[in-house]
Amino acid sequence: MAARILLLPGDGIGPEVTGEARRVLEHVADRHGLALALEEGAIGGASIDACGEPLADAVLERARKSRAVLLGAVGGPRWDELPVDRRPEKGLLRIRKELGLFANLRPASVFPALASASTLRPEVVDGIDLLVVRELTGGLYFGEPRGTALVEGRREARNTMVYDETEIARITRVAFDAARRRRSHVTHVHKANVLEVSQLWMQVVDEVAGDYPDVELAHQLVDSCAMLLVRDPRRFDVMVTGNLFGDILSDEAAMITGSLGMLPSASLGEGGVGLYEPVHGSAPDIAGQDRANPLAAILSVAMLLEHSLDAAAAAAEVRDAVTAVLGAGHRTGDLLLEGEERPTLGCRAMGDRVLEALS
Ligand code: NAD
Repeated sequence: MAARILLLPGDGIGPEVTGEARRVLEHVADRHGLALALEEGAIGGASIDACGEPLADAVLERARKSRAVLLGAVGGPRWDELPVDRRPEKGLLRIRKELGLFANLRPASVFPALASASTLRPEVVDGIDLLVVRELTGGLYFGEPRGTALVEGRREARNTMVYDETEIARITRVAFDAARRRRSHVTHVHKANVLEVSQLWMQVVDEVAGDYPDVELAHQLVDSCAMLLVRDPRRFDVMVTGNLFGDILSDEAAMITGSLGMLPSASLGEGGVGLYEPVHGSAPDIAGQDRANPLAAILSVAMLLEHSLDAAAAAAEVRDAVTAVLGAGHRTGDLLLEGEERPTLGCRAMGDRVLEALS
């Protein structure tokens, strides 16, 4: 039976970059004999314009019945005046919540041709290939009690960091499974010297690690981890951590690589549907001008192939094609270094180059 893939292009440059990602997915599926049924739906501003809500129930139902969702980006100035609960971003938050996506995977790797785009020295970034696995639905961002109050005449605010062992164990398994497909090393990032929550994480991560004797495990304090990430990022393979630390470290890791237009992500859940999307937003400043870099969306396709279609070889081909295109000197405008002068490609032409490299 064909695996159903739902494309939700969204707003701004979303349709442009998902258009190129779709062409790559179709091409690779064809080559590898993967039977796919691709469908499209609306999310974000596009959905608000079509039906008044940022995510229609019918689209959500189609997402639930899909193997994977490939999303572009949502949002833009046109919808900025709407009340918060009716804005495009609500569509994104809703689909993540309804699909129970508790694991966010953000790889950060440096393509050799782009090593000089990093703010770090090329010899430090050359060869970085790490994956941050962040718990997405628990921890400090969701814990109760929370809120603000006036206590003895002073304003006070409170948030609660709470995790139970099942939440920790399931995200840890995602990390160890991913490590098995990579270099078999997991770093658990914590603050166990001051937080009881982190002490529980240490115990549960150790317990889960017992099921993965072939994967090496290290525990690393979050503060020293943040330093190591800029001093010696190549030491990391898979990092696993809670929502708060993961939020910060995944952005730090991403920026080491230099460019927003190159960063894919995956969110996985218990229902078996994976959601794949570039890290960047809808870039309204360049939307509709054929100037967007489609490589983050194309690399999201590689993650989809790997995690939802169990097609690691096809995923590697996509990544290799991107590496080859960059190695040949092709660039979209966002990838030019300051002062660098060379012709740039539009979104469509960059998609063409990747397809050529694949064939
Ligand atoms: P952004 O990521 O859209 O853009 C930041 C800058 O990076 C812009 O100058 C943009 O032109 C550039 N850029 C981003 N992606 C690029 C690409 N693929 N190729 C070339 N250049 C690219 O962030 P923003 O400007 O803060 O937000 C714009 C809109 O996107 C807002 O409405 C915001 O809410 C939304 N947003 C959505 C998501 C999402 O859908 N996941 C994420 C972040 C922001």
